[in-house]
Amino acid sequence: MGISPVRYDREWRSLWFGNNLLNLPEKELCKIRGNRISMVFQEPMSALNPVQPIGFQVAESLILHKNLSRHQAQRQASKVLDRVGLPAKKISRSLYPHQLSGGQRQRVVIAIAMVCEPELIIADEPTTALDVTIQEQILALISELVIEENMTLMLITHDLGVVAENTDQMLVMYAGRIVEKGPTNKVFEHLVHPYTRGLFASIPDTEKSANDLSRHPKNRRLSTIPGRVPEFWERTKGCSFADRCSRAQAKCFSELPDETRISNGHSVACFFPWE
Ligand code: SF4
Repeated sequence: MGISPVRYDREWRSLWFGNNLLNLPEKELCKIRGNRISMVFQEPMSALNPVQPIGFQVAESLILHKNLSRHQAQRQASKVLDRVGLPAKKISRSLYPHQLSGGQRQRVVIAIAMVCEPELIIADEPTTALDVTIQEQILALISELVIEENMTLMLITHDLGVVAENTDQMLVMYAGRIVEKGPTNKVFEHLVHPYTRGLFASIPDTEKSANDLSRHPKNRRLSTIPGRVPEFWERTKGCSFADRCSRAQAKCFSELPDETRISNGHSVACFFPWE
């Protein structure tokens, strides 16, 4: 998971401007969702309403959160659709999601997420359902909007290349816990947690392979992490990674490791980070 770029600080790790979101009543949460925190989902066809035109779907948040009339909201929504690369001249606001391509649908989802100018956008694998060239365009668009509108982006992804190019801070999560975190460049330069190392080791090294046939991906097995992620009911009180970890010692199976500081801002949840 990566976070980029503006307002990641200690407070945001558990609190939202002094409020624990988990304790807020539903009514208060509804004022935040889609307004101050919004989400870009990974599959735009399921994220969009198939029976509403795209113009209305973008305008709806403005009607709900900003008290705009339907007409004012539609006008504002149209500007935002222009901004995400769907100009009104080419893409009618009365089209339905099934009449758009995958990339266009994801642009509509981004427009819905940003129309109320939230402080935080959570993008959950926003390019998984798209082909590679469209993926790049969508990520470039999200990064551009986040910087221009002074928003923070929380990017949830398993793609380490996407993390490297689009984030300032990264959190590596395993079995629901943060196992390593820090500035993206520092974590990439110095991988510490055995799980983070395993993730990086499983990336095919295509550059070296191109010059050395014995290392060609076809001629060697991909490195994998042995075992599997435990189900939530199988988790023990020790380190969740213990069953799969080559460094594990007795203590790892009975105690949960605390954060250990590696360098400024870079920390890891492991008893034996230096081994
Ligand atoms: S705490 Fe132990 S089991 Fe967990 S990652 Fe570190 S060495 Fe491995």
